[in-house]
Amino acid sequence: MTAYAGLRLLVVGGGITGLAAAWEATGQGAEVLLVEASERFGGKLRTEHVDGLAIEAGPDSFVAYRPAALTLVRELGLGEEVVEVRGGRTVHLRTDGRLQPIPDGMGLVLPTKLGPFVRTPVLRWRHKARALLDLVLPRRLGASDVAIGDLLRARLGEGIVQRFADPMLGGIYGATVDELSLDAVLPILREHERTHRSLIIASLASGRAARAAAQSTSGSGGTTRGPSSPFRSLATGLGALPDRLVDALTERGADLRRHTRVDALTPDGEQTRVRLSDGTEHVVDGVVLAAGAAASADLVEPYAASAAAALRQVRHASTTVVTLAWPESAFATPPTTQGWLEAGDAPVSGVTISSAKWPGRAPAGVVLVRAFVPDRVGRLARGSDGEILDAVTRHVSGILGAHQPPTLTRVTRWVGVMPKYTVGHLDRVAAVDAGLAGQPSWTVAGSAQRGVGIPDCIADGRAAVSRVLGSRKATAAAASPTTATPTTTATPTTASPTITGRQPTPERTPA
Ligand code: FAD
Repeated sequence: MTAYAGLRLLVVGGGITGLAAAWEATGQGAEVLLVEASERFGGKLRTEHVDGLAIEAGPDSFVAYRPAALTLVRELGLGEEVVEVRGGRTVHLRTDGRLQPIPDGMGLVLPTKLGPFVRTPVLRWRHKARALLDLVLPRRLGASDVAIGDLLRARLGEGIVQRFADPMLGGIYGATVDELSLDAVLPILREHERTHRSLIIASLASGRAARAAAQSTSGSGGTTRGPSSPFRSLATGLGALPDRLVDALTERGADLRRHTRVDALTPDGEQTRVRLSDGTEHVVDGVVLAAGAAASADLVEPYAASAAAALRQVRHASTTVVTLAWPESAFATPPTTQGWLEAGDAPVSGVTISSAKWPGRAPAGVVLVRAFVPDRVGRLARGSDGEILDAVTRHVSGILGAHQPPTLTRVTRWVGVMPKYTVGHLDRVAAVDAGLAGQPSWTVAGSAQRGVGIPDCIADGRAAVSRVLGSRKATAAAASPTTATPTTTATPTTASPTITGRQPTPERTPA
């Protein structure tokens, strides 16, 4: 397709959002200049290969129910590389010092099946009784955004908050449910209350509908699988995705520059003059800012101060990823769980046994573990790499029964880079968009705005291209009519650019 032939796009930031934007733009015929400040492309997607291990520094998977990641993977010819979680899903919650299976049919915060919820040992009987009060409580939400914790605590009580919602959501969003925005993170809960009043009744109904739909798709002769995981990854690790994108973009002639920053963006009519840190200057038709909220704020500040201010209001969390590897002989019984989330005091928020979860992450006989130390665990998160490593190794070894030290360790710190979708997030997204209305060929994309998951970032990166080049195309088409028929009346060149997809499309996660 050549919808954007002749147009030139600047992409700032070579993470998955920026690379996806570049892929979309070059696929539609635009010329792309992409600048990445660091020495490598991929941003948070980074896989280290050592001793037959595939060690993920950042994300290790993406969800399949939001199709943007799988679609991109297939477009790049990586479809054969997609792997599913081994043998379904055996993830646990650690409560009262014990690993308990997450009950069948449990979403992020609500049950979709009543039986397993009533029987689960994760909640005490008083927690379950309190949660069932939701069945009779009146509606309580007003028009304004609230913290997810406020709604859940009022309707279902503290047990659900501490033992399901906080562990499940906290790891994804780097924030507690008492900070997280209902409307940005789980708008489905508002919808549940509106349609059914009771969140549990609504969730059970949507679970029944989803199971019926799945059964009718699998057909009468189809086999039914056990509870399957929505997560997918790539056989050699997620780093393969940016690597392949870089190769494919290079083949398409994109100008990809590492170790390069944008020093200044200056509007010039409908175009933008760009000065780079390598001393070169360029003129482009659109700018996709995919380098994170702070870098984007710095660049738009001189011409869109209110957008910059709204971007700076997005708070960010930190986390440390600790990777540990042992020979199986280090355990009396090698671990069978694929990992757990901590629902109580612990030095980590969760642990993934990568070798049990994914095929190909470790050679046979090696146990590969990842643990997360978010800043919300407190003092330890601010400790040295050595302190963190010691505490995590002790904790994980104690639970899994390792009787020797790990043979490989890695500590990766992600400082202030996980955007928190706190209460009022959608207002901030709208304020960024409104603040950029005067510069319709600039847009901000990526995890600080419309979803933190990899599929969200890819979808937003791709949509960002039409947000900025769509308006230029409309202007160019109006300025140069293709019909040869002479017109005697002036045809107004539309002054209101089409800014497709400007409305916030927040994270939508099954509750
Ligand atoms: P980034 O990956 O941060 O890329 C931004 C790029 O811009 C970087 O390369 C940076 O160097 C560059 N840059 C910064 N400033 C400038 C500048 N001034 N000029 C030029 N370039 C600049 N998501 C999932 O879906 N599944 C998971 O399992 C998962 N796990 C995660 C685990 C961790 C530890 C973390 C931190 C995140 C995880 N996420 C996960 C979230 C997901 O990885 C991110 O939301 C996503 O990768 C963000 O992509 P991005 O391109 O928007 O930003």
